[in-house]
Amino acid sequence: MLTKAPKGTRDILPGETSKWQYFERVVSKLAENYGFNELRVPIFEHTDLFARGVGESTDIVTKQMYTFEDKAARSITLRPEGTASTVRAFIEYKMFNQPQPVKMYYLGPMFRYENPQAGRYRQFHQFGVEYFGSIAPEADVETIQLCINIFKELGLKNLSLEINSVGCPNCRQKFQEELKKYLANNLDELCKDCRSRYETNPMRILDCKNKKCNDLLKDDMPLLLDNLCSECDEHFYNVKELLTYVGLDFEVNPKMVRGLDYYTKTAFEVIVDDIGAQSSIGGGGRYDGLVKECGGPETPAVGFAVGIERVLLALENQGVKIPEDNEADAYLVYGGSEAKKECFRMLDKIRSLGYLALMDFEDKSFRAQLKKADKLNAKYAVIIGEEELSEEHVLLRNMKDGNQEKIPMNSFLDKIQELIR
Ligand code: AMP
Repeated sequence: MLTKAPKGTRDILPGETSKWQYFERVVSKLAENYGFNELRVPIFEHTDLFARGVGESTDIVTKQMYTFEDKAARSITLRPEGTASTVRAFIEYKMFNQPQPVKMYYLGPMFRYENPQAGRYRQFHQFGVEYFGSIAPEADVETIQLCINIFKELGLKNLSLEINSVGCPNCRQKFQEELKKYLANNLDELCKDCRSRYETNPMRILDCKNKKCNDLLKDDMPLLLDNLCSECDEHFYNVKELLTYVGLDFEVNPKMVRGLDYYTKTAFEVIVDDIGAQSSIGGGGRYDGLVKECGGPETPAVGFAVGIERVLLALENQGVKIPEDNEADAYLVYGGSEAKKECFRMLDKIRSLGYLALMDFEDKSFRAQLKKADKLNAKYAVIIGEEELSEEHVLLRNMKDGNQEKIPMNSFLDKIQELIR
């Protein structure tokens, strides 16, 4: 117990963090280019926020939340996703009074009690954006463009974009009735969850992971797209037209509803071939009713979330090279205790100039120290033995070509700055 992290969680080890930091740098820069600014919300919120926001009958709320009572008997939940918290912050800080649109992004851990497998964890990480205050189809397309461009910028290939319209509460009502009629004769074949979904929220049956339920939804099933009201229909038409105009390939998947209840009109998902069963690396859509539902003024909004573990897995499986840990600029090598002291003093001086400098303190042989410098891919070895010490020189060895140069100690720091910029 004590020596193993909880099921479904994983440590991001020092060898991997450089990949995460690279991902974070790329996505923050791109999101900022699109006019999004970072928002940092708490890891936990009042349970009601997610129950209300994500939807009482979604899998996330009914089965997957980490909910507990705190010491004052408040019901608290570790956030399972980022949109509800962003909406809460939008309302709490009255961002609706700021000039619209308000565009924010977030990065961080999310928590869902799911069955762990490759690409599915109980603590996982998302990058997401939320775009408040615009009903224009351009806002949907800009959001989708950012999502796709993040993957392209990272070097991912074999991507496909699926879109659908899940309508508004009005057209959905009509669709749900049609769906109920369609399934009415096969109620016994639905799983227990879907039987209750049938009563409370039939659209969620489309999202069931049970194969038997999926098989009941044949090609002749009623589709949301055939039940859209004229406003939703027109919006979907405009989104498709704009996507084509800006050259983004997409496929309409009329059965895609996504696992959260708050979506209205556009829903989208990005799929990648190379990571096995959990092939969705990001998804989102419009949620025009959520701000009002959570107690704010009516505010249209659109956003998406990307699963960071899955993106990194896809990058690895596709053999995309991402920057490794930083390599050392200088490795200090000494022979004897006086030289060790001199190297130790120099170590801090080199670091204060902004370089990555390392040395070993265990009095190893010259050979072993140079081997270590090589292993760490250091650019230069700074060698001080007894001879160098008495002559007040250092031997600077270029580790790439093996060339060595004698440099007077008092001009050594200038030399380093000249060589490494
Ligand atoms: P969602 O918040 O369900 O719309 O999911 C958005 C993205 O988060 C998905 O496309 C996945 O890439 C990622 N994701 C969702 N659930 C998990 C999980 N349990 N483990 C890892 N990644 C996940």
